[in-house]
Amino acid sequence: MTNIMQMNGIMEKLTILSDAAKYDVACTSSGVHRGGDGKNIGNAFASGICHAFTGDGRCISLLKILFTNECIYDCKYCVNRSSNDNRRATFTPDEVCQLTVEFYRRNYIEGLFLSSGIIKSPDYTMGLLYETLFLLRTKYRFNGYVHIKGIPGASADVIEMVGYLADRMSVNLELPTAEGLRQVAPNKVRKNILSPMRQIQNGIKESRQTHGVTSMKSRVYIDEKSYYNQLAEMRDSYARLQDYQKGVKAIRQKNADAVAEQSWNFTQMQTAETVAKKNNIAQNFPVSNRSTSQITRNLSYPDRYFVPAGQSTQMIIGATGESDYQIMSVTEALYRKFEMKRVFYSAFINVNEDASLPAIGKKPPLLREHRLYQADFLLRFYGFQADELLSEKNPNFNEQIDPKCDWAVHHLELFPVEINKADYYTLLRVPGIGTKSAKRILSARRHATLDFSDIKKMGVVLKRALYFITCKGKMMYQTRMEENYITRHLTYNEKPAEMFLSDGTTSGYEQFSLFDPQYHL
Ligand code: SF4
Repeated sequence: MTNIMQMNGIMEKLTILSDAAKYDVACTSSGVHRGGDGKNIGNAFASGICHAFTGDGRCISLLKILFTNECIYDCKYCVNRSSNDNRRATFTPDEVCQLTVEFYRRNYIEGLFLSSGIIKSPDYTMGLLYETLFLLRTKYRFNGYVHIKGIPGASADVIEMVGYLADRMSVNLELPTAEGLRQVAPNKVRKNILSPMRQIQNGIKESRQTHGVTSMKSRVYIDEKSYYNQLAEMRDSYARLQDYQKGVKAIRQKNADAVAEQSWNFTQMQTAETVAKKNNIAQNFPVSNRSTSQITRNLSYPDRYFVPAGQSTQMIIGATGESDYQIMSVTEALYRKFEMKRVFYSAFINVNEDASLPAIGKKPPLLREHRLYQADFLLRFYGFQADELLSEKNPNFNEQIDPKCDWAVHHLELFPVEINKADYYTLLRVPGIGTKSAKRILSARRHATLDFSDIKKMGVVLKRALYFITCKGKMMYQTRMEENYITRHLTYNEKPAEMFLSDGTTSGYEQFSLFDPQYHL
């Protein structure tokens, strides 16, 4: 009987705390609730199961919950803020462990994503997360994937201890600028967010060096030197293109850096060396306001890597007035200076009445969020820089077409590109050509001269690429190389659902008309 009551209590907590976790996108989507129907296989349970993607592309299910939705802070955008009158619940460390292991045994999940509101103090809360993880790894011997939130303001020691037990950690940047943070999260300060980020970055580096692995395994931004080497290679590649000098220069790091600096003052953060000097790990565990007797500290963990799956962060988009240029500049700095594995963007959903936030009922800027993710891919995999995609004069993406198409139509002097001659990095800049199809083209053209039908089979999306390429010196159709004309055709190719802009307006470009003379070229 007690067990049933206990289980009912845990299920109630699970319902509250998995629902409260759904706004955190740093581990992607939430599940749906669908009971078994007796005819088909399987069912889905809404509480807390979400999907995340591993480095090798596998999709895994995670139990996504908050440890508690109580919070001493009052962030204006948050459903769990202290001034809201919500049903509150808090797990015990043991309950989280039981749930994780029981779900794992039933094959519902492969890992755990654990975040939390702040109870008593950041240190106290982080100590509870540590205790949970410690029990999970030792008493329950759970060896699966665990992603834990770093609580801003928690002491360096407890962050370090968690880092040796977790696979991934994330400290949320929350807003794209420190000014935005001041406006809507008055209890959070810049330093308390950036310090644990830097500590995790340095910890990952040191741990990998200890284990004889030098790479941070970040996909593009391996380290500063390789990053610049890669950019130099790309610049050379572009320099070979006719009229390159007329286009935007490939390296314009300084401008984007300046925007990121204005936003967050990253350079004030301690370097790896100063942190290493100060970071005397022999200090005692300083979680002062709770009993440390249950917490066994073992900082050596000779077999374990520190945060082996890297760190990520998330920003809320559309709660404050930052431009896409500011957001992308900060993102670029986070990848380069903090070696983030991923930066996530969360379209702002207004769940609270607050005059300083966009009105309730205004739709979340989902299309903007989508464009930011596409641009993020361009930074990580395609060698683009924030300052190439956007500028002070042109600070926001055209939501009607994807950022790569937008960049291409503004740089028509670089196109068309001959498929049978262009190098890898030039091919990557063509809309409709991805990393895989660019590699396939390079490999196939060693044996034959390629035509449009060949590259279509290799995965090139011709409806986008056709304006920017030639095969054997010819374009697919006779096409006017004119920005407005190509933009209209590309806009037409986008899915109808994506045509609604986040500000509630529709396309600024004209729709096709049978009577449009440009259509009859
Ligand atoms: S710290 Fe702010 S964002 Fe986090 S749970 Fe508390 S109120 Fe919400």
